[in-house]
Order: sequence, then structure tokens, then C-alpha cells
Amino acid sequence: MQPFAYAAPSSVKEAVEILTKHGDKARPMAGGTDLLVQIRGGRFDLDVVVDVKKIPELTEVNNTKEGLTIGGAVPCHMLYEDTQISNTFPGLIDAATLIGGIQIQSRSGFGGNLCNSTPSADGICPLIVHSAVARVQGESGTREIPVEEFCTGPGANALGKGEMLVSIFIPNQGKNFGSAYERFIPRNEMDIAVAAVGSSILLGSDGKIQDARIALASVGPTPVFATKASASLIGKDANEESFAEAAKIAKSECSPIEDMRGTVEQRQHLVEVITKRTLSKSLERIGG
Ligand SMILES: Cc1cc2nc3c(=O)[nH]c(=O)nc-3n(C[C@H](O)[C@H](O)[C@H](O)COP(=O)(O)OP(=O)(O)OC[C@H]3O[C@@H](n4cnc5c(N)ncnc54)[C@H](O)[C@@H]3O)c2cc1C
Repeated sequence: MQPFAYAAPSSVKEAVEILTKHGDKARPMAGGTDLLVQIRGGRFDLDVVVDVKKIPELTEVNNTKEGLTIGGAVPCHMLYEDTQISNTFPGLIDAATLIGGIQIQSRSGFGGNLCNSTPSADGICPLIVHSAVARVQGESGTREIPVEEFCTGPGANALGKGEMLVSIFIPNQGKNFGSAYERFIPRNEMDIAVAAVGSSILLGSDGKIQDARIALASVGPTPVFATKASASLIGKDANEESFAEAAKIAKSECSPIEDMRGTVEQRQHLVEVITKRTLSKSLERIGG
């Protein structure tokens, strides 16, 4: 590992100044569970690692009637240990409890998972189906990026030079909303998804589907927001028939590769199966 300086700024402004000054030679560190492995593996040659956990906004969780704001360095355990958050955002909790093991969940969270931007990241699809928005800040100010637009390629994202993630906002969609996330891995835990799906359903007052979102992991160069499958559900009854149809469409929206973890056909099949399953689970969870 190359030697590098360690900076621990206490404000976003200070962190952005350091990141802007050093450009590609600096990276923010939240839990460090991806970053430190990557530095050791030679992926980055850094002059400075910017620890963002000393910045108050980055480690705060704020759950209001409007929605949940998670600081960019909030670890998973802070979410699943809160009963109210667990009840309101079940799809997020599915992911928070399966990212790594308890040690990883105690250090790392959705912010690092999102900024690491891998197609197999377990945190990103649940954020997409919860309509989450990333709040980022750079030298020229702040902006909001819907999570489905955040990842631009394997390990690449929409953050510009010197920009960092400050927090993620997840709207509270009320009692008629349900969500779920599931992945397929060959082992019981601690593995990278062969394929995974996040789903959410919002029922209207007439009992029909008012909104639905389906997102797919490990089956494309980025997490995939399956827009056609999602739209196919709107206005329909929430039942096995509409879920099966949406699952077929989701299968056609993915573009997996074959690698040591799975074939194209296996991944497409998994997308169809897990889409149906997560839609049913989302429906079951409506109303608690
Ligand atoms: C044993 C083990 C098991 C794992 N299991 C899983 C798993 O099951 N599922 C899964 O999805 N992942 C898994 N991971 C990967 C990793 O733990 C997760 O991706 C985790 O969510 C990363 O969060 P972090 O806070 O540690 O990120 P970090 O390592 O701190 O950062 C990750 C990347 O994001 C950047 N970054 C961090 N914070 C910011 C910010 N505020 N603004 C801009 N950029 C930022 C960093 O520079 C780095 O490039 C595992 C890792 C290990 C070591």
C-alpha cells in the first residue's frame, strides 16, 4: 500500500476543499470497507484519504413525517436497530441486514455502497424502489440526484470533481406502500449477488396499483431501474397475474453477462423469479 495522508474534516465545506484541491489523488472514506480493500489492491494511488465520519451531517439520521434522511456515512446498524425506520422502509432494511456481516454493518452503510457504484451493490436497488434522492455538495454548491441516475458505469457515478455525497433522502410514502429486496447467492451469506431485485408497490384508495418500482442488481453495467416493468403495473390489480407479467418484462430489461458466478440465462431466470417474489412480499407488507 502506498503511504497517504489522513484528513478528518469537521465540515462538508472543509472536506470539499480538500477533495477539490487533490482531485483524483483524494477520496472520501465512510466505513472504509470498500475503499481500504481497493487502496490495498492498487486501484487508487492516493495522496489523502478524507474521513467523512467526523462531519455531523454525515452521521445523522433524521426520520420525519416527510421522509428519512440518512447521512452519507451512517452505518447499516443504525437503521435496522430503529423499529420505526424498519417498519416504514422495509426494502431498505432487507439490504441493511444482508450487506456483509455484523462487523461490516457496524461500519458501512448506504452512502459508501452507493458511491462505490457497483452493479451488484445490495443497497442501491432498495434506494431506487424507495424513490431515494442523493444530496451532493461540491465547490459550486449542492444538487440532488435521483438514485436511479447516480450510477453511470461499473464503479462510476455522477459525482463531479471535488463533489461528495452528503446525505440520502427517502420519502415516506405512507401506509399503502410496501417494498422488498432479495438477492440470489450460492451461499447463505457473505457473497456477491448472482442476481437481485428490489420492488415496491403503492396502492391507491381504489385498491389498484398507483405506483410501482422494480430495480435489478448484478444484471447490467449499473443497477437497472426496470421502467417498463414498473409502468406495466400502474392501474392494475395487485395480484399474481400482474406480477407475473411485470416479471417477464423485467427479464427483458436486464442485460447480464456470463461470469464465474452465473450464466446469462440463469440470471435472466432469477430476475423473473425474484421480481415476482419481491412484488408479492411488497404487497404483503402493506399496512405493516
Ligand atoms: C467482508 C465484506 C463483505 C461485504 N459484503 C457486501 C454485501 O453483501 N453486499 C454489498 O453490497 N457490499 C458488500 N461489501 C462491500 C462494502 O462493505 C459495501 O459496499 C459498503 O456499503 C461500503 O460502505 P463503506 O461505508 O464502507 O464505504 P467506503 O469503503 O468508505 O467507500 C466506498 C466508496 O465510496 C466512496 N465514498 C464514501 N463516502 C463517500 C461520500 N460521502 N461521498 C463520495 N464518495 C464517497 C469512497 O471513496 C469509495 O470509493 C462487503 C465488503 C466486505 C469487506
